[in-house]
Amino acid sequence: MTSGDGTLLGAIEAGGTKFVLAVGRSPDDIEARHEIPTRKPEETLAEAAQWLEAHGELSALGIATFGPAQLDRDASDWGHILKTPKPGWSRCDLAGYFADHLGVPVGFDTDVNGAALAEHQLGAGRETAGMAYVTVGTGIGGGLIVNGQVVHGAGHPEMGHFFPRRDQSDHVFAGSCPFHGDCLEGLASGPAILSRWGQKLSDLPQDHEAHTLVAGYLAQLCHSLFAFCAIERVVLGGGVVKTPGLIDRVGEMTQLIGRDYLPGRTRQQVVPAELGNDAGLVGGLLLADACRI
Ligand code: ZN
Repeated sequence: MTSGDGTLLGAIEAGGTKFVLAVGRSPDDIEARHEIPTRKPEETLAEAAQWLEAHGELSALGIATFGPAQLDRDASDWGHILKTPKPGWSRCDLAGYFADHLGVPVGFDTDVNGAALAEHQLGAGRETAGMAYVTVGTGIGGGLIVNGQVVHGAGHPEMGHFFPRRDQSDHVFAGSCPFHGDCLEGLASGPAILSRWGQKLSDLPQDHEAHTLVAGYLAQLCHSLFAFCAIERVVLGGGVVKTPGLIDRVGEMTQLIGRDYLPGRTRQQVVPAELGNDAGLVGGLLLADACRI
């Protein structure tokens, strides 16, 4: 699973507000970690490279980044951030910068794919051939593992923009997604919940309709993942998912949707993430581990 040959690996979880850095001899053993605020690319990347270099010679680096990002190894802009509203970051050559400055092989994926990889190998998705990691917080994102491999294709999954069927009692709120209004992110992300009910889900009483509505929309995504991808587990993480009772509600409602027809239903589970805030960073170390020489 993890080779741990004794050489030093580096990892970066690149986020919109902060970069989290780590070094370790194996993905399950973070020796040191450090956070820096995300500013302009030149300053942020230089500070990250400096911190990593100060820990000794790395054998490889893994980057789990915010998106959109170019993951296609054959593309001329592999390793770049693609067009983003974040000032200065569009077309930023993240992987190339560190390959040049550190002189090491670089593994590169999205933060949610990194977290999916980490949960699959070392967390709540252990011993499955297929699983999805879905984070529900400021936005909704997901990474998918099928037959043990992270799924890449024309792009990377954007599960937050799944279109759920609206609940029969719920047709007034327009949704908060700037692209679609009432896609899943527009209905069930932290900002959607806040703009609709004025409070966080965890602050609303347990008998408030918000709990059932949010769980129902998330359950539709889980059901679709089971139905489309024949995976065994959906691992849920992110701030909204910490709401007491939410994961159980999502699991029960997912089972209800799939009842009587969905093959393999008894093997399908909706479970909480195990690696918490470290998932992306551990994913970065796994990406590094996979490409070290
Ligand atoms: Zn959307």
